[in-house]
Amino acid sequence: MNNRPREVINVVEPQPVMEGAGVRLKRSIATPTLDNLDPFLLFDHFGSKDPADYIRGFPMHPHRGIETVTYMIQGVVNHKDSIGNAGSITSGDVQWMTSGSGIMHEEMPQPCQDEMIGFQLWVNLPARLKMGNPRYQNIFADQIPQVSRTDGVKILVIAGQVDDVRGPVTEIEADPIYLDISVPQNCEFKHPVQRGHTAFAYVFEGQGRFGSGDEGTAIGHPRLVEFGDGDHVAIQATDQHVRFLLVSGKPLNEPIARYGPFVMNTREEIQQALEDLRNGTFVKK
Ligand code: FE
Repeated sequence: MNNRPREVINVVEPQPVMEGAGVRLKRSIATPTLDNLDPFLLFDHFGSKDPADYIRGFPMHPHRGIETVTYMIQGVVNHKDSIGNAGSITSGDVQWMTSGSGIMHEEMPQPCQDEMIGFQLWVNLPARLKMGNPRYQNIFADQIPQVSRTDGVKILVIAGQVDDVRGPVTEIEADPIYLDISVPQNCEFKHPVQRGHTAFAYVFEGQGRFGSGDEGTAIGHPRLVEFGDGDHVAIQATDQHVRFLLVSGKPLNEPIARYGPFVMNTREEIQQALEDLRNGTFVKK
């Protein structure tokens, strides 16, 4: 069996940006230096002890042509949308939202005493699904299985499979892996990733060594680590623990035309989205 390790090909320092109605966050995909990692279009890290950094939130706004994936480590985001969903994404919950042809929603972080920590990933949709029906998967923390290995490695399986455990997010076109992995000191984690799929890790606690070679590349937090192609990823924790997300998906290799919350294939389709918004015909369903 061919089992080539994936090496680190890029390490991205998240950039501070202001988004929504005035939310400070750290962005690693959708920046001047990294437009996308096909099929991933954006990756944001919310992390602050000061509610002033996030309380203005993301009032009602549209999306078309993409999926937005919100994962809260700590804190609460209240949401509601044009297909009738409303609720809270609280610590450990995931919302996997497929906008298809159009959804309007608001995402409002609530003040929290501790640090608010969360992530949002945008996943592109192929041309044939961009104008499909909106869909929404709300996964509560207690529905996300945790694999605890004898060496102390703990893996929350949001999407994809670890050992015999499958994540609860299903029927996503990108065939994603989305894992939250904690590796204690002096332990190692290896995971197969389908050859040809894009893969990255986002380190948000501690530090570890990523890739193969004798010791891999030492990477602390917060950093996004892009892997080259191969059959598996390998991460070692040495003198401290490391916690990171491992994300992978099937590239689309389609043209990308993006304008704010709309990501389509052509400029004309972006114009159409803006026109639909003006005409009040944006939300189809
Ligand atoms: Fe949104």
